[in-house]
Amino acid sequence: MTDHTASDVVTPSLTLLGLGAMGTAFARAWLAAGYSLTVWNRTPGRAGALVAEGAVLAAGAADAVAANALTVTCLLDDASVGEALAGADLTGKDLVDLTTGTPSEARARAAWAEARGARFLSGGIMAVPPMIGVPEAGGYVLYSGSPELFEAHRTALAVPAGTRFTGENPGHAALQDVALLSGMYGMVAGAAHAFALVRGEKDISPSEFAPLLAEWVVAMSAMIPQIGRQLESGDYESGVASGLAMQVAGVQSFLDTAHEQNVSPELLTPVFNLMKRRAQDGHEREGFAGLVGLLGP
Ligand code: NDP
Repeated sequence: MTDHTASDVVTPSLTLLGLGAMGTAFARAWLAAGYSLTVWNRTPGRAGALVAEGAVLAAGAADAVAANALTVTCLLDDASVGEALAGADLTGKDLVDLTTGTPSEARARAAWAEARGARFLSGGIMAVPPMIGVPEAGGYVLYSGSPELFEAHRTALAVPAGTRFTGENPGHAALQDVALLSGMYGMVAGAAHAFALVRGEKDISPSEFAPLLAEWVVAMSAMIPQIGRQLESGDYESGVASGLAMQVAGVQSFLDTAHEQNVSPELLTPVFNLMKRRAQDGHEREGFAGLVGLLGP
């Protein structure tokens, strides 16, 4: 790739800044796919194995950026991206930043890159390093920012993991990344409480209980699309099979069971409190969609 219009099919080459656990996984995927890869890392010693596998180690970040039209950054945080790129000439370059950050950091970084003459795409990696370069693992990267950049480099970007372009607002990949991970932490909270309830029992082994829990959580995830539809339509009651009235009536059993098992209810009480508030506000026939508005905005 020598300019914005060149196809990465014709010249498969790019630059990667950052060879931590994630950057190294991305680098290996591009090398394995035959890409010519220029790399830079603050601690150059970390590049040794990749150089042996065919990567070219640049003397500095600015040299690495100069080597190719496309530069991908995968660094610790947004501040390290600013530091690494401080001396680089970004004029006419394409910059894809896979570093985790907040939506406002991504928007500010986009404005910063565009002011220096670059096109910019922010990425949120929905995978852990062992999933990179393994399509069947299901990992993907959320992208937002320049659609032209995404189109120009979609072949290269699709090598390490799946790609999902989420629109032109550069903050939206970071926002959806954090939103998806927040959903995961809710699941982890429920799972931690569930394991705590059963682990004091001699004849319930955690490893035998685990598949029951995993299957149940997957089955219950079917309610998520319904919540999405309800939030969009504003009708939170139609089609609800398990309304808040019934669920709130059962809350005491959950708290009593936790008490009997010597388990703290601290992970469950926040959601129970929201359910009670919404039911008391006259929304007993709703499911969970009404809880969203209690949180904001
Ligand atoms: P690591 O801690 O393994 O690597 C961090 C990288 O950032 C290293 O290359 C490090 O260089 C570099 N770095 C840190 N500070 C600076 C600085 N001030 N200037 C220049 N370079 C700096 O992290 P990962 O590779 O795991 O993660 C990279 C990004 O990917 C992060 O934003 C992370 O949130 C994201 N991510 C990671 C996932 C994971 O499971 N690992 C999952 C999803 C996203 P040096 O070698 O010199 O220390």
